Amino acid sequence: MKDFFLKGVTLSEEEKLVVETVQDLCRKEIGPRAAEVDRDERFPWENIEIINEIGLNGLFIPEAYGGSPVSKTAWLVILRELSKACPSTAIIFATTSHCCYPIVKFGTPEQKEKFLPMFLKGALGAISMTESHAGSDVRSMKSTAIKTSDGYVINGTKTFVTSGDTADLFSVFLNVRENGKTLGLSPFVITKDMPGFSVGKKEEKMGVRASSTAGIVLEDCLVPEDHLIGVPGEGFKILLDYLNDSRPNIAAQAVGVAEAAFEAAVSYANERVQFGKRIIEHQGIQFMIAEMATRIQAAWQSVLHVAKLMDLGHEDFSAEASMAKLMASEMAEKVTSDAIQIHGGYGYCRDYPVERMMRDSKITQIYEGTSQIQKIVIGRYFTEKK
Ligand SMILES: Cc1cc2nc3c(=O)[nH]c(=O)nc-3n(C[C@H](O)[C@H](O)[C@H](O)COP(=O)(O)OP(=O)(O)OC[C@H]3O[C@@H](n4cnc5c(N)ncnc54)[C@H](O)[C@@H]3O)c2cc1C
Repeated sequence: MKDFFLKGVTLSEEEKLVVETVQDLCRKEIGPRAAEVDRDERFPWENIEIINEIGLNGLFIPEAYGGSPVSKTAWLVILRELSKACPSTAIIFATTSHCCYPIVKFGTPEQKEKFLPMFLKGALGAISMTESHAGSDVRSMKSTAIKTSDGYVINGTKTFVTSGDTADLFSVFLNVRENGKTLGLSPFVITKDMPGFSVGKKEEKMGVRASSTAGIVLEDCLVPEDHLIGVPGEGFKILLDYLNDSRPNIAAQAVGVAEAAFEAAVSYANERVQFGKRIIEHQGIQFMIAEMATRIQAAWQSVLHVAKLMDLGHEDFSAEASMAKLMASEMAEKVTSDAIQIHGGYGYCRDYPVERMMRDSKITQIYEGTSQIQKIVIGRYFTEKK
C-alpha cells in the first residue's frame, strides 16, 4: 500500500488486502505486459484471466448475488492501480462493471439472479450508448426496441463499444417504441449469442490499444421482455445516474496513468546526467516535477472527495463527479506530456513507456462525456432556474 498519493486514504483491512493483491499482480504480471499488448494491439486475455482468478469482478456484484463489494474509495484505488500498470486492462475491467451497473442498481431481483452470477465466472461486459450521429448528444440515438407480443425487436447500429467484439453481455440503451409511440430510452441486456447480433467496425486507436473498441449491429434481434431494465422509456434517468457513477472511474484511470508517467519521469530525472549533474538537480526540471506532483495530488483529492460523498450515501454528486473527471483527465494529458519532456528525445521513442502513457491518457478527456460536456454539467449545476 505504500505510495505517496495513498497517504491518508482510509480503507478497511479487507480492502487493503485486495489493494495489495492488485498491486502485486500489477507489478509482476500486468505492468510488464503493457508495452507489448499496446505495440501488438492485442487484447490482454492473460490479464483478464488473472483478474478472474482472484475474483475481482466480485467487487461490483452485491453480496446477495455472490459478490464481495468494496467502498467506492477502495474501488477507485484499485482502478488507479490497474491503470498505473496497464490502462487498457483497467478500462476493460471497469467496463464490465459499467455493464453491470444498470442491472445492479435498477434491475429486479430476478434480473440480478439471471444476469449477475455469470460475471463471477469471468464473463466480460460492455455498455453501449453511442451511435455514429449520437455522441455527446446521446439522446439523439436512433436505435429502436419495438414491443411485440414475443418480446422486443431491436434494430440499430452502435459505435465505439469498449469490448464490443469480446464481451459476453451488453447493456445497450435504445429507444423503446410501443403501439407506434416512442416512449423514451431504456437499457436492455443483450448477449452476444442472440440471433441478429453481430460485431461491426473495429477501431484502430491512438491509445488504450490493447482494449478493443468496436461497433455492434442489431438486426431484428428479438429480446425477451425481461431484458429491459427499469420502467420502459424511463431510462434516461438511469443513463444519467450511470454516468455520475462511472465518471469517477475514468478520473481514477487518468490519475493512474499520470502517476505512472510521473514515477517514470522522477526515476529518469534522478539518473540522467547533463551539464555534470543529474537533471533533477536543475531547477527547471525540479519545478516541473513539483508541478506534476501537485497537479496529480489535486486531481486525486478531487476523485477521493467524490468517492467520500458516494460512500457517505450522498445522492447529489453529479457536479463533483464531473469536476473529478474534468480535472483528472486534463491533468493526465499535461502530466504525461511533461513526463516525455523530462525524458527528452528518449521520451518520444518507444523504448520508454511515457509515450504510450501520453497516448493512453488522451481518451480520458473524451469518453463518458468529453471535457466540454463535463463543463456543461458543472456549469448547469450552478445555473439558477428563472
Ligand atoms: C476508445 C473509445 C472507447 C469508447 N467506449 C465507449 C463505450 O464503451 N460505450 C459507448 O457508448 N461509447 C463509447 N465511446 C464513445 C464516447 O463516449 C464518445 O466518443 C464521446 O461521448 C464523444 O462523442 P463523439 O465522439 O461523437 O464526439 P462529438 O459529440 O461529436 O463531439 C465532438 C466535439 O464537439 C464537442 N461538443 C459536442 N457537443 C458540445 C456542446 N454542446 N458544447 C460544447 N462542445 C461540444 C465535444 O466536446 C468534442 O470536442 C468510446 C469512444 C472511444 C474513442
